[in-house]
Amino acid sequence: MLETLHRIVQAVNAAADFDEALAIIVDQVADATAADVCSVYLLEEDTQHLRLMATHGLNPEAVGQVRLSVDEGLVGLVAQREESVNLENADRHPRFRYFPETGEERFHSFLGVPIIHYQARLGVLVVQRNTRARFNDGEVAFLVTMAAQLAGVMAHARVRGDLARSTMEASGRALAVTGIGGSSGVAVGEGFAASAGADLETVPDRPVRNATAELAAFQAAVEAVRNDVSELGERMRAQLPEGEQLLFDVYLQMLDGDSLTSRVYHQIEAGHWAPFALRLTIAEHVRRFEAMDDAYLRERASDVRDIGRRLLARLMAVEGDDRAPPEQVILVGEELSASQLAEIPPEQLAGVVSAGGSANSHIAILARALGVPAVMGVRDLPVHRLHGRALIVDGYRGRVEVDPAEALRAEYVGLQQEEAELTAELAALSGLPARTTDGAELNLYVNTGLAAEINRALEIGCAGVGLHRTEFPFMMRDRFPGEEEQASLYREVLSAFAPLPVTLRTLDVGGDKPLPYFPTHDENPFLGWRGLRMTLDHPEIFLTQLRAMLRASVGLDNLRLMFPMVTRVEEAEQAAALVARARAELAEEGVVTAPPQVGAMVEVPAAVYQAESLARRLDFLSVGSNDLAQYLLAVDRNNSRVASLYDELHPAVLRAVNEVAEAGRRVGRPVSVCGSMAGEPAVAPLLLAMGMEGLSMSSGRLLRVKWVIRTISAADARGMLTEALACETPQQVRQLVNSALDDHGLGGLIRAGRR
Ligand code: PEP
Ligand code: MG
Repeated sequence: MLETLHRIVQAVNAAADFDEALAIIVDQVADATAADVCSVYLLEEDTQHLRLMATHGLNPEAVGQVRLSVDEGLVGLVAQREESVNLENADRHPRFRYFPETGEERFHSFLGVPIIHYQARLGVLVVQRNTRARFNDGEVAFLVTMAAQLAGVMAHARVRGDLARSTMEASGRALAVTGIGGSSGVAVGEGFAASAGADLETVPDRPVRNATAELAAFQAAVEAVRNDVSELGERMRAQLPEGEQLLFDVYLQMLDGDSLTSRVYHQIEAGHWAPFALRLTIAEHVRRFEAMDDAYLRERASDVRDIGRRLLARLMAVEGDDRAPPEQVILVGEELSASQLAEIPPEQLAGVVSAGGSANSHIAILARALGVPAVMGVRDLPVHRLHGRALIVDGYRGRVEVDPAEALRAEYVGLQQEEAELTAELAALSGLPARTTDGAELNLYVNTGLAAEINRALEIGCAGVGLHRTEFPFMMRDRFPGEEEQASLYREVLSAFAPLPVTLRTLDVGGDKPLPYFPTHDENPFLGWRGLRMTLDHPEIFLTQLRAMLRASVGLDNLRLMFPMVTRVEEAEQAAALVARARAELAEEGVVTAPPQVGAMVEVPAAVYQAESLARRLDFLSVGSNDLAQYLLAVDRNNSRVASLYDELHPAVLRAVNEVAEAGRRVGRPVSVCGSMAGEPAVAPLLLAMGMEGLSMSSGRLLRVKWVIRTISAADARGMLTEALACETPQQVRQLVNSALDDHGLGGLIRAGRR
């Protein structure tokens, strides 16, 4: 059965369009179940009617003609009850409805199963036979499994089909696809497919026009990578144990050796352009290494892949991406990365659409930081087909409209204007404190990570930086940045904000932030080797970063250091001891630094329950609500399949955050929040009432949060918190905060939606 299922799903996936996909389904399912008839009825979302869309066995003329409401007929019964209906004498059932155009009077037995995709009814799959015998258990099980498998494929194929039709017929009807709002705001622009980057798996083949030029380009790439690798080896020589240094020698041997380069030359001569020739060669080598008996040699496969990626990055830099982005870019991609986003000039980047990921993927966080609307997790949308299409991105509702009709476009352009007006109004709050009507104040910090964010934050005014994510420069390079390099990056942020405090977070890679040159191979990366766990295991990497941070602060003295993913008290102690060691080393070298404030992120549930112990040992705590919600709710923050379950307003999350605030208060240490919850204007009153010292958010959110704080009183906020902590569902909390905003005339564009 598995094999049959697999074969059918593969055939459907390969179909050219949706109609062909349906035709394949009905033919092959009829064949697999030895049924006389197999039909697919699809539910029209707007009218809740089922329409016969494909059939094997019924009169083909009936396709598209037969249409019935969900409370009519047996097919309607299946859709209505959302479970299968299995009958030996369909025509005797009270719900039987006869459509003469189908010619189905000959068929007596009926088995219908619903096609459901993420709780949404898509339609009904029916098989019929001309005998009077119920389908047996095995047949029912097969059809149910088939329908469940087909649901996803069909949802995808339907969107693909609609997408093709919406331009072909110029129907003027926009195709709307729902995902998850990743960054609020709306944008109108043109789809632009992200470049493939240095992804060896996806390099397309292209015929080679000038083999000599391709060979020269490849030679230049080899030379460049050879230089990179020797430089890296030199730099790491002092810090790495001898065994690890060998890695660089192995790389150099591979580059200098004959087998890799001569195979690439051979492939170029066979007619492929250099990047594809490289892809073929690397795949060949990886296969060979992976098949080896010796474990050490098997491991070399990952080195080959790494060399391949480095060569490809160099090659692509040489070959370049010669497509000029349109004026208003809506960047589209399967799983967008920070560097793909960085490739678009900021003034042209209007919106982001990512097939994968969710509101808490780094790409969404980046989009929020840049104030660019984003929709994530549009799983059913073949994003590569959006290149060059007119698009609307609605980050509030998590919707993408493809080829919108003029009226809709105009509506969104209007919305964009309203947004701009609100933003202009809020600009007046720039220099003012975040103080409630009854005089309570809290600090509003910004989250930074990219150079572009610094200027924006300075423009709007803030209390400093509550979270500077340091991993982006690590992610955008093809090697670890050195101490000098890092120090100058950190100096930039520290001096831009001095004398305001700047919280530099130590490296938080692993999880959803893998480094291409330092793969962790975790089966379950979010529960694996990430954040402080990794840096404590690699003191050479950690100390380099700490030294760079401390050196960058000389004379500015506004450095605060923060550790991610703290799970045990000993980790915080160990990390703090390494900070002391780095300071002592620098002092020995004549670089005298002021002792920085040192704090921990509370983002692992264990840390909530040890917040007091952690706070006692450190200077401050900061709640990382993105990860905290992920771990408390057991919802992968990047998995769009479960994204609807990810909710910062879940009562458990609110209570955990409140608990941390209380723990800090007990031992007299300040607690702040730096996850995206801190930038949610509707939640600000609750966090204020918890007694947070500060909220750190992307700069795009800061004035909205300030607006709310300045409009309410601390007394009202405390009342809201008491009620919120008594709520039992996220929906109750959402209603509570939204109606409080409405009461203060603050609704509209800042409501707490489902991001
Ligand atoms: C968090 O987890 O809330 C956080 C701020 O860190 P990051 O999003 O970088 O993991
Ligand atoms: Mg985190």
